Amino acid sequence: LCMPYQIERHEHVITPSIGISLFPVNNDSPETILKQADTAMYRSKDSGKNAIRFFHPSMQAAADARLVLEKDLRHALQNNHLHLYYQPQVDAEGHITGAEALLRWNHPKRNFISPAEFIPVAEETGLIIPLGEWVTLTACLQLREWESKGLHENFHLAINVSPRQFRMPDFVSRIQHVIETTGIEPGHLTLELTEGIVIDDIKNTIDKMQSLKAFGVKFSIDDFGTGYSSLAYLRQLPLDQLKIDQTFVRDICRDPNDEVIVETIISMANLLGLQVIAEGVETVEHLRFLADRGCKAYQGYYFSKAIPGEEFTSKLDLSSSST
Ligand code: C2E
Ligand code: MG
Ligand code: MG
Repeated sequence: LCMPYQIERHEHVITPSIGISLFPVNNDSPETILKQADTAMYRSKDSGKNAIRFFHPSMQAAADARLVLEKDLRHALQNNHLHLYYQPQVDAEGHITGAEALLRWNHPKRNFISPAEFIPVAEETGLIIPLGEWVTLTACLQLREWESKGLHENFHLAINVSPRQFRMPDFVSRIQHVIETTGIEPGHLTLELTEGIVIDDIKNTIDKMQSLKAFGVKFSIDDFGTGYSSLAYLRQLPLDQLKIDQTFVRDICRDPNDEVIVETIISMANLLGLQVIAEGVETVEHLRFLADRGCKAYQGYYFSKAIPGEEFTSKLDLSSSST
């Protein structure tokens, strides 16, 4: 299957993902065998495509659990069981300069489910589109409320954008629509993209980013350093900020490799004229280390975890004199 083949004058190559189910094993019905092969095929795709996987019963258990999660997530979205929390971002003096909006889901039976678990399911099933729309709208409504109470000019609220959301052909107009209907100042909104998003179809990425940038929206690269960081693509993108991934921050005081990575990211940002923020700042040692190397913006448990909107409002220094 991997051999190149010719259609008219063009050469094509396919990268198949194959799932294999053995029979007869348990007297399974043809439908079951096909379902098992299908499950194994999705495992091939998940492992990076162009692969072969045999069905194993544990795959079925995982697939069933995922299906339940998807159903519950759909229900949660329709019934307002999801919440947006806000984690402060601070400057060297500890003053709040912005926030990152983070999804929280209080599942009726399983209590708290981490977005790290349900976002990939939403991404896979397409639920991320209505979910992302809800996040954008909720974040902008919150921003509008803060603006009406006299939010300071340089404040920025960051929202996470997932690959599938960004790849929607009308992504730009969807964001513009929310900005216009809520009436927020676009300069207060930052979109966090991952390196994976920007690398994949760079031309299309630049076009979309430029359209939103012209509108006033800002861009940050989330989890920076975990992907294919290269100066070549960074130079082409209309970026405002790099966000140092928390896995590097965690061990900076102990692991010389992480120390070098963090120092390199800070110099890359300086070289490209971008701001740099560190996430996962948990201790005063992290903070000192980063500050000594010229990183002046921080986010992490040392300052605050993500908190509900009302609690965040009470931490903000609002002048309430402006509109
Ligand atoms: P992220 O965008 O990199 O967000 C940072 C994560 O680090 C958050 O986890 C945050 O609670 C956590 N964090 C912050 N400070 C610290 C710290 O000092 N130490 C440690 N250990 N962790 C810290 P969370 O909220 O569980 O979110 C996980 C991921 O889920 C996010 O990673 C983001 O990729 C995704 N996510 C969350 N909300 C959304 C959303 O609204 N849309 C999309 N597309 N993805 C989201
Ligand atoms: Mg983020
Ligand atoms: Mg991150």
